[in-house]
Amino acid sequence: MEERIVELECCGICEEKKHRGIHLYHMFICTDCEYNMIHTEPREEKYNYYLQKLKNINQPTLFS
Ligand SMILES: [Zn+2]
Repeated sequence: MEERIVELECCGICEEKKHRGIHLYHMFICTDCEYNMIHTEPREEKYNYYLQKLKNINQPTLFS
């Protein structure tokens, strides 16, 4: 059995460090936020919040 050190990544949405998630371009999105985004409807206030966060994906990182 090979063991790997699991690095915590900072979620681009909730900004918390999580083990599990997906990568969307250079942004890490934790499974919780991914789930929430999928289940948020455009009329909900949260939707705009997620949209704003996702906009950052297309912008170049200044501190990489
Ligand atoms: Zn998150």
